[in-house]
Amino acid sequence: MWTGLLRTGAVICPVCGRPLSLSGDEKSLLCGGPRTHVFDLGRSGYVNLNSGGGDGDGRESVSARRRFLEAGYYDTLLGTLRSCLDPLPAEGAPVFDAGCGEGYYSRKLAAAFPDRLFFGLDLSKSGVDLAARSARAGGLANADYAVGNLNRIPLADASAGCILNVFAPCFETQFMRVLRPSGRLILVAAGPDHLMGLKERLYESTYPNGEREDLPGCLRLLEKTSVRTEITVEGGHVMDLFSMTPYYWRTPLSGRERLAGLESLTTVIDFEIRIYGKD
Ligand SMILES: [Zn+2]
Repeated sequence: MWTGLLRTGAVICPVCGRPLSLSGDEKSLLCGGPRTHVFDLGRSGYVNLNSGGGDGDGRESVSARRRFLEAGYYDTLLGTLRSCLDPLPAEGAPVFDAGCGEGYYSRKLAAAFPDRLFFGLDLSKSGVDLAARSARAGGLANADYAVGNLNRIPLADASAGCILNVFAPCFETQFMRVLRPSGRLILVAAGPDHLMGLKERLYESTYPNGEREDLPGCLRLLEKTSVRTEITVEGGHVMDLFSMTPYYWRTPLSGRERLAGLESLTTVIDFEIRIYGKD
């Protein structure tokens, strides 16, 4: 872990901006500045590079997401991401998973593309810790994870070959900075009908999802694809899915109870995948 990624010089010290390297005992990352900044690795192998404040998802919602995604409900999306990544040159520049959560997509992609390096960043310590633990358990030497803030990405300018931004906030200025000139941003957002079946169970009247408001304006849109299918979510995974959505926080108790009583839920899933280039 870390060796391949740090060799690219892409990961930088969040304090002074110098490239990080692995300490001799392989227990921390350090920069080569006049006052060396040291970042200890957690037991799972993740590192905390968060230079600002903020708090990400807690352990409970991270576990719910993990249970749901591992059951394979979103594997059509995973397959599409794999085909998006496939034609891109590897060039030794890492794939940056911006807002990686518990690392489901980057971990699966790292297994599918052993020649590429993956670096995931998220504000959630629970998420990043689980991502690193799972990567290690799966014997993945090409996926590393750090706690950090997307408005201050600890990556050098023009160092990332590709950025994945899956259901995570888009920080375009930072993405522009860290992306190589030939790099690509792959952004995944909810399509108009995403989780319509879930919404119909929660609300009297439902509307299609609106367009995301934080779509990039400076990067150039090269391609847009939609992936739409129907899934039947079973048992406890219904509530796991619910907890991953924004509706979780704004649904009255009666709606939650209605959902909690379901043995299964059939719903459309609808993803919009946009690929952006810098040039
Ligand atoms: Zn430093």
